[in-house]
Amino acid sequence: MPGGFSASADARPCPCGAGVYRHCCAPLHRGLKRAETAEQLMRSRYSAFARAEVGYLLSTHPEPDRDDKIRRAELVRSCRQTRWLGLTIREVCGGGSDDLEGTVVFEARYRGGALKETSLFQRRNGSLSGDWLYIRAVALEA
Ligand SMILES: [Zn+2]
Repeated sequence: MPGGFSASADARPCPCGAGVYRHCCAPLHRGLKRAETAEQLMRSRYSAFARAEVGYLLSTHPEPDRDDKIRRAELVRSCRQTRWLGLTIREVCGGGSDDLEGTVVFEARYRGGALKETSLFQRRNGSLSGDWLYIRAVALEA
């Protein structure tokens, strides 16, 4: 029963660990709410990787020089291949409601290892009314 399955998936803990999916990252993935902070965007992008919300991953990480079809295919493959197990936010610098930029240090665990990254986030168009976007990794640790 597809409806029943989706309802129960919504009631499960959010992959990002901050609450029940329905009240946590689901409204962001569905475009009903926007990330207020860089950390919130970080969490919702992690959950999107865990739940294969590829459209959300594309829309929150602009790469104007790359073909969207190729990016989509890469993300679909990555989501299929990786089993994400949990997220820990280590440090947040800036990225608040009055900031234009921020960094988030996190550790994302997957079956077989962990990704430690410092991610850079900026608001769209450098404006306080712009949505938070993931720009790039500024430091990466295997
Ligand atoms: Zn969440």
